[in-house]
Amino acid sequence: MYDIIVIGAGSTGSTIASRVSEDPNRSVLLIEAGPDYANLEQTPFDLVNSHQNSMQDHDWGFNYEPTRNRSVSFPRGRVTGGSSAVNTTIALRGMPEDYDEWADLGNDEWCWDKVLPAFKRLERDLDFGDAGYHGDSGPISIRRYPNDELLPQHQAFLETASDLGYAACADANDPEGWGAGPQPMNKLGRLRISCAVAYLASARIRPNLTIRANTLVRRLVLNGNRCTGVEVENQSGEVETLSARLVVLSAGALMSPPILMRSGIGPNSQLTQHSIDTLQDEPGVGANLSDHPALSVVCMAKGGAIIDFDSPIIQTILRYTTEGSDKRNDMQIEQISYAGRPGGPPLFAIAACLEYQYGRGEIRLRSADPHAHPIVEARFCEDDRDTARLVKAFKDTLAFTRTGALGDMVDSLAFPDPKRPMDDEDIAQLVRKLAGSGYHPCGTVKMGPIADPEAVVDQYGCCHRLENLVVADASIMPFVPRANINLTSIMIGEKIGEWIRTQPGRYGL
Ligand SMILES: Cc1cc2nc3c(=O)[nH]c(=O)nc-3n(C[C@H](O)[C@H](O)[C@H](O)COP(=O)(O)OP(=O)(O)OC[C@H]3O[C@@H](n4cnc5c(N)ncnc54)[C@H](O)[C@@H]3O)c2cc1C
Repeated sequence: MYDIIVIGAGSTGSTIASRVSEDPNRSVLLIEAGPDYANLEQTPFDLVNSHQNSMQDHDWGFNYEPTRNRSVSFPRGRVTGGSSAVNTTIALRGMPEDYDEWADLGNDEWCWDKVLPAFKRLERDLDFGDAGYHGDSGPISIRRYPNDELLPQHQAFLETASDLGYAACADANDPEGWGAGPQPMNKLGRLRISCAVAYLASARIRPNLTIRANTLVRRLVLNGNRCTGVEVENQSGEVETLSARLVVLSAGALMSPPILMRSGIGPNSQLTQHSIDTLQDEPGVGANLSDHPALSVVCMAKGGAIIDFDSPIIQTILRYTTEGSDKRNDMQIEQISYAGRPGGPPLFAIAACLEYQYGRGEIRLRSADPHAHPIVEARFCEDDRDTARLVKAFKDTLAFTRTGALGDMVDSLAFPDPKRPMDDEDIAQLVRKLAGSGYHPCGTVKMGPIADPEAVVDQYGCCHRLENLVVADASIMPFVPRANINLTSIMIGEKIGEWIRTQPGRYGL
């Protein structure tokens, strides 16, 4: 019997396990489906190497439908550190208004003024640590590439942004800032500062924390409306039950809903379809899938650009507001250092990423089998407000290929076909057909007040209608914030981890 079982050692789960095990009197078990590497010497290169995403060796192998009837892969980390161990290490916070909007939906603990201390606590900003809105002593080291470390195409991107009238922005995490500048990144040289590195490395020495890797959680164990533990399966297929006074589900936005559904917690119609007994009808489980739809312009490079697949894939960022939008910084344009494959033609890309999304998708259960992958339908750009802004942003992105220093590096467009008409309706067709995920799924176990029929957990992560069960990961975000969501996922871990440690009564401990 553990005090606390945390399911999933990802961005949020690692943070929670680390924070709650600071109390030496709490026994904590962290369960991870993927492997665990106890130190950097044992850690494989794909996890160390932040210059590229790790998309195969530590991946779940999921597919999803970004737009109707199109199936593409959807990477998710399967290893201690979770997706933070395989990602691009972009370390951006959402806009203050995002968290204030979360609060307006009935989650007053998540307004900007209340999340800012957790954002400060999690980071060690090596460039702006002394700014009032930054931290200088947290576990996640963050720095920005100085100008002389930028690849030529990134230097050119910043010059062209200036030519096009965008402001220069030295710190993209300045809550008032906008414009183009170096990307804040949680990497030191090549080393990816994942949550395994930042949080688990120092916590794993504690005798009250056990990390159990290569262990799949099949389902939760419930006694009436009380969660009492988890059913797990090891690599040899042996199944056992582990008990705890509190279970924290942190399997991520794509995997937390299926675990709940297989445990009888989810939309009644889906559970019945898979012959699962309904313990709690929860229509919100798997609904409200929110993400960042994106579409890239791909350029054939000519002289100057360095197309080196061993160099950092991202170094710079433009955050701005699309014309006529009432959502500040609702868009990102990102210079991608290289595209295609090594040995192929010399390509780079410029991505337009919609950051404030109105549309919503859905996650459904494929089967009651705990090994089955979920059905993920993002339904990008089915909301005309999303399409209209992504169309504008795509045109803004095309302007980079024709202007200034970056324009000079473009030999021709590989995508879109330069022979296309490229009027608004043509681009709208492109984004409705080809928009893809920024890899930031969230919202699928939404937090909110009990009066919200879609809300599964309250603002402390506690299930409204079940006891001793907390959900804490990207799935509880009411909607995607205007930034890549790793830092926000860690911030959620910082807040809920602290609450569990300092307010145990709220969590039945
Ligand atoms: C390729 C890629 C690039 C990205 N780039 C960036 C970026 O640069 N910046 C950024 O901000 N965000 C980025 N993201 C997104 C960001 O990393 C994730 O949104 C964030 O890590 C989500 O945190 P989480 O805790 O919700 O889930 P995860 O970190 O995915 O953690 C879930 C964990 O639960 C485990 N798990 C799942 N099911 C089970 C089970 N049944 N039993 C046991 N364990 C289980 C998983 O293996 C995983 O370790 C990227 C994501 C990917 C995949």
